[in-house]
Amino acid sequence: MSFAVNQCQRCLHAVYPARYLCPNCQGSAWRSIPVRYGRLQQCTRVPGSRGDDAYLGTLQTDAGPIVVARLAGTRHTTGQRYALRLERDALVAEPDSPDP
Ligand SMILES: [Zn+2]
Repeated sequence: MSFAVNQCQRCLHAVYPARYLCPNCQGSAWRSIPVRYGRLQQCTRVPGSRGDDAYLGTLQTDAGPIVVARLAGTRHTTGQRYALRLERDALVAEPDSPDP
């Protein structure tokens, strides 16, 4: 399932989570736009009780808003590009293939 943010119909500013008014132009009409990629800004390892550590990341999406997602895998590098998807209503980011 794809992840989406809200985009102001007047000035195209994107926000996440949803807001009533656009912080840029005070507009109140929104459209949902899919966001497929983000770039990792920060990564936090959350130690698991049985060695099953989880990784949480702060990512700047291609649409602009910054999101927090569970990172798939165990090797993460800030600046790396990630593919975003919803999995059981949770945002998951998976390392994308390296930039060409
Ligand atoms: Zn706006």
